[in-house]
Amino acid sequence: MADLNDFRAETRAWLEKNCPEGARGAGPVSIGSRSLDLGPDLEVWLERMAGKGWTVPTWPVEYGGAELDRDHYRVLIEELTRIRARPPLSGRGVNYIGPTLLEFGTDGQKARWLPQIARGDGAWAMGYSEPGAGSDLASLSCRAVLEGDHYVINGRKTWTSDAVDCDYIFVLVRTSPDKPKHQGISLVLVDMSQEGVQVHPIRLLSGASPFCETVFENALCRADDVVGGVDNGWTVGKRLLQFERSTHAGINISGSQGGRAEESRVPELVQAYAGADDGIDSPAIRARLIRFAMNTEAQRFTQARAVEELKSRAPGFTSSAVKLTGALLKQEGDEMLVEAMGVRMLGADDSFSASERNAQRTWLYGKSLTIAGGTKEVQKNIIAKRVLGLPD
Ligand SMILES: Cc1cc2nc3c(=O)[nH]c(=O)nc-3n(C[C@H](O)[C@H](O)[C@H](O)COP(=O)(O)OP(=O)(O)OC[C@H]3O[C@@H](n4cnc5c(N)ncnc54)[C@H](O)[C@@H]3O)c2cc1C
Repeated sequence: MADLNDFRAETRAWLEKNCPEGARGAGPVSIGSRSLDLGPDLEVWLERMAGKGWTVPTWPVEYGGAELDRDHYRVLIEELTRIRARPPLSGRGVNYIGPTLLEFGTDGQKARWLPQIARGDGAWAMGYSEPGAGSDLASLSCRAVLEGDHYVINGRKTWTSDAVDCDYIFVLVRTSPDKPKHQGISLVLVDMSQEGVQVHPIRLLSGASPFCETVFENALCRADDVVGGVDNGWTVGKRLLQFERSTHAGINISGSQGGRAEESRVPELVQAYAGADDGIDSPAIRARLIRFAMNTEAQRFTQARAVEELKSRAPGFTSSAVKLTGALLKQEGDEMLVEAMGVRMLGADDSFSASERNAQRTWLYGKSLTIAGGTKEVQKNIIAKRVLGLPD
Protein backbone atom coordinates (compact mmCIF):
# COMPACT_ATOMS: atom_id res chain seq x y z
CA MET A 1 0.00 0.00 0.00
CA ALA A 2 1.22 3.52 -0.85
CA ASP A 3 3.24 5.48 1.69
CA LEU A 4 0.82 7.54 3.81
CA ASN A 5 2.27 10.92 2.76
CA ASP A 6 2.13 10.01 -0.92
CA PHE A 7 -1.39 8.71 -0.47
CA ARG A 8 -2.42 11.98 1.18
CA ALA A 9 -0.95 14.08 -1.62
CA GLU A 10 -2.54 11.94 -4.34
CA THR A 11 -5.88 11.89 -2.55
CA ARG A 12 -5.87 15.65 -2.02
CA ALA A 13 -5.15 16.29 -5.69
CA TRP A 14 -7.78 13.81 -6.86
CA LEU A 15 -10.45 15.23 -4.55
CA GLU A 16 -9.75 18.82 -5.56
CA LYS A 17 -10.17 17.85 -9.19
CA ASN A 18 -13.11 15.47 -8.86
CA CYS A 19 -15.35 16.63 -6.03
CA PRO A 20 -17.96 18.96 -7.58
CA GLU A 21 -18.87 22.16 -5.72
CA GLY A 22 -22.41 20.85 -5.20
CA ALA A 23 -21.05 17.88 -3.24
CA ARG A 24 -19.33 20.08 -0.65
CA GLY A 25 -20.89 21.35 2.57
CA ALA A 26 -24.07 20.19 4.27
CA GLY A 27 -26.76 18.54 2.17
CA PRO A 28 -28.31 15.28 1.07
CA VAL A 29 -26.43 12.00 0.83
CA SER A 30 -27.56 9.08 -1.30
CA ILE A 31 -28.83 6.01 0.54
CA GLY A 32 -29.47 4.12 -2.68
CA SER A 33 -31.29 4.31 -5.99
CA ARG A 34 -34.79 5.35 -4.92
CA SER A 35 -33.76 7.51 -2.01
CA LEU A 36 -33.42 11.07 -3.23
CA ASP A 37 -33.29 13.13 -6.36
CA LEU A 38 -29.62 13.95 -5.94
CA GLY A 39 -29.10 16.37 -8.80
CA PRO A 40 -26.24 16.25 -11.29
CA ASP A 41 -23.31 17.18 -9.00
CA LEU A 42 -24.08 14.48 -6.45
CA GLU A 43 -24.70 11.86 -9.09
CA VAL A 44 -21.31 12.58 -10.64
CA TRP A 45 -19.75 12.50 -7.17
CA LEU A 46 -21.28 9.13 -6.34
CA GLU A 47 -20.16 7.67 -9.67
CA ARG A 48 -16.59 8.99 -9.36
CA MET A 49 -16.17 7.83 -5.77
CA ALA A 50 -17.62 4.40 -6.60
CA GLY A 51 -15.14 4.22 -9.48
CA LYS A 52 -12.26 4.72 -7.00
CA GLY A 53 -13.73 2.18 -4.55
CA TRP A 54 -14.11 4.99 -2.02
CA THR A 55 -17.84 4.64 -1.34
CA VAL A 56 -16.76 1.56 0.67
CA PRO A 57 -13.02 2.25 1.08
CA THR A 58 -12.18 -0.72 3.34
CA TRP A 59 -14.02 -3.40 1.32
CA PRO A 60 -12.12 -5.80 -0.95
CA VAL A 61 -11.55 -4.52 -4.49
CA GLU A 62 -13.51 -7.43 -5.99
CA TYR A 63 -16.65 -6.21 -4.19
CA GLY A 64 -16.31 -2.55 -5.18
CA GLY A 65 -13.99 -1.29 -2.43
CA ALA A 66 -10.40 -0.01 -2.35
CA GLU A 67 -9.05 -2.29 0.41
CA LEU A 68 -7.72 0.65 2.45
CA ASP A 69 -6.29 -0.24 5.82
CA ARG A 70 -7.23 1.80 8.89
CA ASP A 71 -4.43 4.37 8.48
CA HIS A 72 -5.13 5.01 4.80
CA TYR A 73 -8.84 5.15 5.60
CA ARG A 74 -8.15 7.83 8.22
CA VAL A 75 -6.17 9.90 5.71
CA LEU A 76 -9.00 9.63 3.17
CA ILE A 77 -11.54 10.83 5.76
CA GLU A 78 -9.27 13.70 6.82
CA GLU A 79 -8.91 14.82 3.22
CA LEU A 80 -12.66 14.53 2.57
CA THR A 81 -13.36 16.53 5.73
CA ARG A 82 -10.76 19.17 4.78
CA ILE A 83 -12.76 20.22 1.71
CA ARG A 84 -16.11 19.49 3.44
CA ALA A 85 -16.89 16.83 0.84
CA ARG A 86 -20.11 15.02 1.60
CA PRO A 87 -20.04 11.22 1.95
CA PRO A 88 -21.29 10.08 -1.47
CA LEU A 89 -23.22 7.13 -0.06
CA SER A 90 -24.66 6.15 3.27
CA GLY A 91 -27.40 3.97 4.70
CA ARG A 92 -28.21 0.44 5.69
CA GLY A 93 -26.70 -1.13 2.58
CA VAL A 94 -23.21 0.27 3.00
CA ASN A 95 -23.14 0.41 6.79
CA TYR A 96 -25.29 -2.48 8.09
CA ILE A 97 -25.92 -5.37 5.71
CA GLY A 98 -22.77 -4.86 3.59
CA PRO A 99 -20.25 -5.43 6.42
CA THR A 100 -22.47 -8.21 7.79
CA LEU A 101 -22.26 -10.00 4.44
CA LEU A 102 -18.50 -9.50 4.43
CA GLU A 103 -18.29 -11.33 7.77
CA PHE A 104 -21.01 -13.97 7.35
CA GLY A 105 -22.01 -14.16 3.66
CA THR A 106 -21.23 -16.97 1.26
CA ASP A 107 -19.04 -16.19 -1.77
CA GLY A 108 -22.19 -16.24 -3.91
CA GLN A 109 -24.02 -13.75 -1.65
CA LYS A 110 -21.01 -11.43 -1.57
CA ALA A 111 -20.61 -11.49 -5.36
CA ARG A 112 -24.32 -10.87 -5.94
CA TRP A 113 -25.04 -8.16 -3.37
CA LEU A 114 -21.87 -6.26 -2.44
CA PRO A 115 -20.88 -4.65 -5.78
CA GLN A 116 -24.37 -3.23 -6.23
CA ILE A 117 -24.42 -1.89 -2.67
CA ALA A 118 -21.03 -0.25 -3.30
CA ARG A 119 -22.47 1.53 -6.36
CA GLY A 120 -25.49 2.77 -4.39
CA ASP A 121 -27.69 0.64 -6.57
CA GLY A 122 -30.67 -0.10 -4.32
CA ALA A 123 -31.77 1.21 -0.93
CA TRP A 124 -32.16 -1.14 2.04
CA ALA A 125 -34.67 -1.22 4.89
CA MET A 126 -34.28 -3.01 8.20
CA GLY A 127 -36.94 -5.50 9.31
CA TYR A 128 -36.21 -6.31 12.96
CA SER A 129 -38.85 -4.80 15.30
CA GLU A 130 -42.36 -6.20 15.55
CA PRO A 131 -45.39 -5.03 17.54
CA GLY A 132 -44.47 -7.61 20.22
CA ALA A 133 -40.70 -7.65 19.80
CA GLY A 134 -38.63 -4.48 20.33
CA SER A 135 -36.04 -4.62 23.11
CA ASP A 136 -36.98 -8.26 23.52
CA LEU A 137 -36.17 -8.89 19.88
CA ALA A 138 -35.82 -12.66 20.23
CA SER A 139 -39.59 -12.87 20.76
CA LEU A 140 -40.16 -12.09 17.08
CA SER A 141 -42.81 -14.15 15.34
CA CYS A 142 -42.51 -13.33 11.61
CA ARG A 143 -42.30 -16.82 10.04
CA ALA A 144 -40.32 -18.19 7.09
CA VAL A 145 -41.05 -21.68 5.80
CA LEU A 146 -38.88 -23.47 3.24
CA GLU A 147 -40.78 -24.54 0.12
CA GLY A 148 -38.53 -25.89 -2.61
CA ASP A 149 -35.78 -23.38 -3.31
CA HIS A 150 -37.55 -20.43 -1.62
CA TYR A 151 -38.65 -19.38 1.83
CA VAL A 152 -42.25 -18.17 2.16
CA ILE A 153 -42.50 -15.30 4.64
CA ASN A 154 -45.55 -14.21 6.64
CA GLY A 155 -45.71 -11.60 9.37
CA ARG A 156 -45.31 -7.90 10.05
CA LYS A 157 -42.45 -5.61 10.96
CA THR A 158 -42.90 -2.19 12.49
CA TRP A 159 -40.86 1.04 12.58
CA THR A 160 -39.15 0.04 9.32
CA SER A 161 -37.51 3.40 8.59
CA ASP A 162 -37.70 4.65 4.98
CA ALA A 163 -39.18 1.33 3.80
CA VAL A 164 -41.52 3.10 1.42
CA ASP A 165 -38.47 4.24 -0.58
CA CYS A 166 -36.47 1.03 -0.33
CA ASP A 167 -35.79 -1.74 -2.82
CA TYR A 168 -34.61 -4.48 -0.44
CA ILE A 169 -35.06 -5.37 3.18
CA PHE A 170 -33.04 -7.61 5.50
CA VAL A 171 -35.44 -9.38 7.84
CA LEU A 172 -35.11 -11.40 11.03
CA VAL A 173 -37.54 -14.31 10.70
CA ARG A 174 -38.40 -17.40 12.71
CA THR A 175 -37.36 -20.50 10.78
CA SER A 176 -37.62 -23.09 13.58
CA PRO A 177 -40.49 -22.30 15.95
CA ASP A 178 -39.91 -25.46 17.98
CA LYS A 179 -36.39 -24.49 19.03
CA PRO A 180 -35.63 -22.19 22.04
CA LYS A 181 -36.41 -18.64 20.98
CA HIS A 182 -32.84 -17.47 20.34
CA GLN A 183 -32.01 -20.56 18.31
CA GLY A 184 -34.76 -20.64 15.69
CA ILE A 185 -34.10 -17.28 14.00
CA SER A 186 -32.57 -16.52 10.58
CA LEU A 187 -31.58 -13.34 8.74
CA VAL A 188 -32.92 -13.24 5.17
CA LEU A 189 -32.64 -10.81 2.25
CA VAL A 190 -35.92 -9.89 0.57
CA ASP A 191 -36.74 -8.03 -2.65
CA MET A 192 -39.39 -5.45 -1.78
CA SER A 193 -40.76 -5.05 -5.31
CA GLN A 194 -42.83 -8.26 -5.09
CA GLU A 195 -46.57 -8.30 -4.40
CA GLY A 196 -46.18 -10.17 -1.13
CA VAL A 197 -44.45 -7.16 0.49
CA GLN A 198 -46.72 -4.24 1.42
CA VAL A 199 -45.47 -1.04 3.01
CA HIS A 200 -47.74 1.29 5.00
CA PRO A 201 -46.27 4.62 6.15
CA ILE A 202 -46.94 5.46 9.80
CA ARG A 203 -47.82 9.14 10.19
CA LEU A 204 -46.10 11.03 12.95
CA LEU A 205 -47.24 14.12 14.86
CA SER A 206 -44.91 16.22 12.70
CA GLY A 207 -46.82 15.12 9.59
CA ALA A 208 -43.69 13.56 8.13
CA SER A 209 -43.26 9.82 8.07
CA PRO A 210 -39.91 8.07 7.91
CA PHE A 211 -41.52 5.10 9.72
CA CYS A 212 -43.48 2.31 8.07
CA GLU A 213 -45.16 -0.95 8.84
CA THR A 214 -43.99 -3.63 6.42
CA VAL A 215 -46.29 -6.60 5.93
CA PHE A 216 -45.23 -9.92 4.42
CA GLU A 217 -47.99 -12.09 2.95
CA ASN A 218 -46.51 -15.13 1.26
CA ALA A 219 -43.48 -13.06 0.29
CA LEU A 220 -40.59 -15.04 -1.18
CA CYS A 221 -36.87 -15.00 -0.63
CA ARG A 222 -34.35 -17.32 -2.23
CA ALA A 223 -33.23 -20.20 -0.02
CA ASP A 224 -29.63 -19.16 -0.66
CA ASP A 225 -30.33 -15.67 0.69
CA VAL A 226 -30.19 -16.73 4.33
CA VAL A 227 -27.16 -14.90 5.75
CA GLY A 228 -24.80 -16.85 8.01
CA GLY A 229 -26.78 -20.10 7.94
CA VAL A 230 -30.29 -21.21 8.84
CA ASP A 231 -31.17 -20.72 12.54
CA ASN A 232 -28.00 -18.68 13.10
CA GLY A 233 -29.82 -15.36 12.80
CA TRP A 234 -29.44 -14.36 16.44
CA THR A 235 -25.64 -14.29 16.16
CA VAL A 236 -25.66 -12.64 12.72
CA GLY A 237 -28.44 -10.22 13.64
CA LYS A 238 -26.64 -9.07 16.81
CA ARG A 239 -23.49 -8.36 14.82
CA LEU A 240 -25.56 -6.31 12.38
CA LEU A 241 -26.90 -4.34 15.36
CA GLN A 242 -23.30 -3.53 16.28
CA PHE A 243 -22.80 -2.19 12.77
CA GLU A 244 -25.93 -0.08 13.21
CA ARG A 245 -24.89 1.25 16.62
CA SER A 246 -21.35 1.97 15.46
CA THR A 247 -22.80 3.95 12.54
CA HIS A 248 -24.86 6.04 14.97
CA ALA A 249 -21.66 6.46 16.99
CA GLY A 250 -19.59 7.58 13.97
CA ILE A 251 -17.13 4.68 14.32
CA ASN A 252 -18.20 2.36 11.50
CA ILE A 253 -15.51 2.45 8.78
CA SER A 254 -17.45 0.51 6.17
CA GLY A 255 -18.63 3.56 4.20
CA SER A 256 -16.84 6.89 3.92
CA GLN A 257 -18.29 8.67 6.94
CA GLY A 258 -16.80 6.73 9.87
CA GLY A 259 -14.48 8.75 12.07
CA ARG A 260 -15.48 12.17 10.74
CA ALA A 261 -15.37 14.66 13.56
CA GLU A 262 -18.67 16.47 13.92
CA GLU A 263 -18.52 20.25 14.01
CA SER A 264 -18.54 21.55 17.56
CA ARG A 265 -21.88 22.97 18.69
CA VAL A 266 -20.25 25.19 21.30
CA PRO A 267 -20.10 28.39 19.14
CA GLU A 268 -23.82 28.01 18.29
CA LEU A 269 -24.68 27.57 21.97
CA VAL A 270 -22.53 30.53 23.05
CA GLN A 271 -24.31 32.69 20.48
CA ALA A 272 -27.75 31.49 21.60
CA TYR A 273 -26.98 32.19 25.27
CA ALA A 274 -25.56 35.61 24.36
CA GLY A 275 -29.06 36.63 23.24
CA ALA A 276 -30.81 35.18 26.30
CA ASP A 277 -31.82 36.90 29.56
CA ASP A 278 -29.51 35.74 32.32
CA GLY A 279 -27.39 34.23 29.54
CA ILE A 280 -23.70 34.02 28.81
CA ASP A 281 -22.76 36.22 31.81
CA SER A 282 -24.21 33.72 34.27
CA PRO A 283 -21.43 31.70 35.97
CA ALA A 284 -23.69 28.63 36.08
CA ILE A 285 -24.28 28.75 32.32
CA ARG A 286 -20.59 29.34 31.60
CA ALA A 287 -19.71 26.32 33.73
CA ARG A 288 -22.29 24.23 31.92
CA LEU A 289 -20.94 25.31 28.53
CA ILE A 290 -17.40 24.49 29.56
CA ARG A 291 -18.46 21.04 30.78
CA PHE A 292 -20.32 20.45 27.51
CA ALA A 293 -17.27 21.55 25.48
CA MET A 294 -15.03 19.19 27.47
CA ASN A 295 -17.45 16.28 27.07
CA THR A 296 -17.63 16.99 23.33
CA GLU A 297 -13.84 16.78 23.12
CA ALA A 298 -13.82 13.60 25.23
CA GLN A 299 -16.38 12.04 22.89
CA ARG A 300 -14.26 13.02 19.89
CA PHE A 301 -11.16 11.41 21.41
CA THR A 302 -13.13 8.30 22.36
CA GLN A 303 -14.40 7.97 18.79
CA ALA A 304 -10.88 8.38 17.43
CA ARG A 305 -9.56 5.77 19.87
CA ALA A 306 -12.34 3.33 18.99
CA VAL A 307 -11.48 3.69 15.28
CA GLU A 308 -7.77 3.38 16.07
CA GLU A 309 -8.35 0.11 17.89
CA LEU A 310 -10.58 -1.45 15.22
CA LYS A 311 -9.78 -4.94 14.08
CA SER A 312 -12.67 -5.05 11.59
CA ARG A 313 -15.11 -2.47 10.20
CA ALA A 314 -16.70 -1.71 13.56
CA PRO A 315 -16.09 -2.60 17.18
CA GLY A 316 -18.28 -5.01 19.11
CA PHE A 317 -19.74 -4.02 22.46
CA THR A 318 -17.82 -0.72 22.48
CA SER A 319 -20.36 0.41 19.86
CA SER A 320 -23.05 0.46 22.56
CA ALA A 321 -20.98 2.72 24.81
CA VAL A 322 -19.97 5.25 22.13
CA LYS A 323 -23.48 5.30 20.66
CA LEU A 324 -24.98 6.00 24.08
CA THR A 325 -22.56 8.76 25.11
CA GLY A 326 -22.89 10.38 21.67
CA ALA A 327 -26.69 10.35 21.83
CA LEU A 328 -26.77 11.75 25.38
CA LEU A 329 -24.35 14.51 24.39
CA LYS A 330 -26.46 15.41 21.39
CA GLN A 331 -29.58 15.56 23.57
CA GLU A 332 -27.78 17.70 26.16
CA GLY A 333 -26.77 20.18 23.45
CA ASP A 334 -30.38 20.27 22.20
CA GLU A 335 -31.69 20.90 25.72
CA MET A 336 -29.24 23.77 26.22
CA LEU A 337 -30.38 25.29 22.95
CA VAL A 338 -34.01 25.03 24.11
CA GLU A 339 -33.09 26.80 27.34
CA ALA A 340 -31.17 29.54 25.55
CA MET A 341 -33.77 30.16 22.84
CA GLY A 342 -36.77 30.14 25.18
CA VAL A 343 -40.06 30.75 23.35
CA ARG A 344 -38.20 31.09 20.03
CA MET A 345 -37.88 27.28 20.20
CA LEU A 346 -41.65 26.83 19.99
CA GLY A 347 -41.69 27.80 16.33
CA ALA A 348 -43.98 25.88 14.01
CA ASP A 349 -45.31 28.55 11.63
CA ASP A 350 -43.94 31.29 9.38
CA SER A 351 -43.68 33.83 12.20
CA PHE A 352 -40.56 31.92 13.26
CA SER A 353 -37.37 31.91 11.22
CA ALA A 354 -36.23 28.83 9.29
CA SER A 355 -33.35 28.27 11.73
CA GLU A 356 -35.73 28.50 14.72
CA ARG A 357 -38.10 25.95 13.18
CA ASN A 358 -35.15 23.76 12.30
CA ALA A 359 -33.82 23.93 15.88
CA GLN A 360 -37.18 22.70 17.15
CA ARG A 361 -37.31 19.79 14.69
CA THR A 362 -33.74 18.79 15.53
CA TRP A 363 -34.55 18.85 19.27
CA LEU A 364 -37.65 16.69 18.78
CA TYR A 365 -35.85 14.26 16.46
CA GLY A 366 -33.00 13.99 18.97
CA LYS A 367 -35.39 12.27 21.39
CA SER A 368 -35.35 9.21 19.14
CA LEU A 369 -31.57 8.78 19.39
CA THR A 370 -31.85 6.94 22.71
CA ILE A 371 -34.49 4.57 21.27
CA ALA A 372 -33.35 3.76 17.70
CA GLY A 373 -30.86 0.91 17.39
CA GLY A 374 -31.72 -0.26 20.91
CA THR A 375 -32.87 1.95 23.79
CA LYS A 376 -30.70 3.69 26.35
CA GLU A 377 -31.62 1.07 28.96
CA VAL A 378 -30.76 -1.79 26.61
CA GLN A 379 -27.36 -0.22 25.83
CA LYS A 380 -26.71 0.18 29.57
CA ASN A 381 -27.56 -3.49 30.11
CA ILE A 382 -25.08 -4.46 27.36
CA ILE A 383 -22.36 -2.21 28.76
CA ALA A 384 -22.93 -3.57 32.28
CA LYS A 385 -22.79 -7.21 31.19
CA ARG A 386 -20.46 -7.29 28.20
CA VAL A 387 -18.09 -4.36 28.81
CA LEU A 388 -17.91 -4.14 32.61
CA GLY A 389 -18.53 -7.84 33.21
CA LEU A 390 -21.14 -7.22 35.93
CA PRO A 391 -23.32 -10.19 36.92
CA ASP A 392 -26.85 -10.60 35.46
C1 LIG B 1 -35.81 6.72 14.84
C2 LIG B 1 -36.07 5.23 14.94
C3 LIG B 1 -35.81 4.43 13.84
C4 LIG B 1 -36.06 3.05 13.90
N1 LIG B 1 -35.86 2.29 12.77
C5 LIG B 1 -36.10 0.97 12.81
C6 LIG B 1 -35.92 0.18 11.62
O1 LIG B 1 -35.58 0.69 10.55
N2 LIG B 1 -36.17 -1.14 11.70
C7 LIG B 1 -36.55 -1.76 12.87
O2 LIG B 1 -36.69 -2.97 12.88
N3 LIG B 1 -36.75 -1.02 14.00
C8 LIG B 1 -36.55 0.32 13.99
N4 LIG B 1 -36.76 1.07 15.12
C9 LIG B 1 -37.33 0.43 16.31
C10 LIG B 1 -36.37 0.32 17.48
O3 LIG B 1 -35.39 -0.67 17.24
C11 LIG B 1 -37.22 0.00 18.73
O4 LIG B 1 -38.06 1.12 18.96
C12 LIG B 1 -36.37 -0.25 19.94
O5 LIG B 1 -35.63 -1.44 19.81
C13 LIG B 1 -37.23 -0.34 21.23
O6 LIG B 1 -38.27 -1.26 21.06
P1 LIG B 1 -39.78 -0.83 21.41
O7 LIG B 1 -40.08 0.45 20.69
O8 LIG B 1 -40.64 -2.01 21.15
O9 LIG B 1 -39.78 -0.49 22.98
P2 LIG B 1 -39.86 -1.54 24.17
O10 LIG B 1 -38.91 -2.64 23.93
O11 LIG B 1 -41.29 -1.86 24.40
O12 LIG B 1 -39.30 -0.66 25.37
C14 LIG B 1 -40.14 0.22 26.13
C15 LIG B 1 -39.32 0.75 27.29
O13 LIG B 1 -38.95 -0.33 28.16
C16 LIG B 1 -37.55 -0.34 28.38
N5 LIG B 1 -37.03 -1.71 28.47
C17 LIG B 1 -37.38 -2.76 27.70
N6 LIG B 1 -36.68 -3.88 28.08
C18 LIG B 1 -35.85 -3.50 29.08
C19 LIG B 1 -34.88 -4.17 29.86
N7 LIG B 1 -34.60 -5.48 29.68
N8 LIG B 1 -34.21 -3.48 30.82
C20 LIG B 1 -34.48 -2.15 31.02
N9 LIG B 1 -35.41 -1.45 30.31
C21 LIG B 1 -36.08 -2.12 29.35
C22 LIG B 1 -36.97 0.31 27.14
O14 LIG B 1 -35.69 0.83 27.39
C23 LIG B 1 -38.00 1.40 26.85
O15 LIG B 1 -37.76 2.53 27.66
C24 LIG B 1 -36.54 2.47 15.10
C25 LIG B 1 -36.79 3.27 16.21
C26 LIG B 1 -36.57 4.65 16.14
C27 LIG B 1 -36.88 5.51 17.33
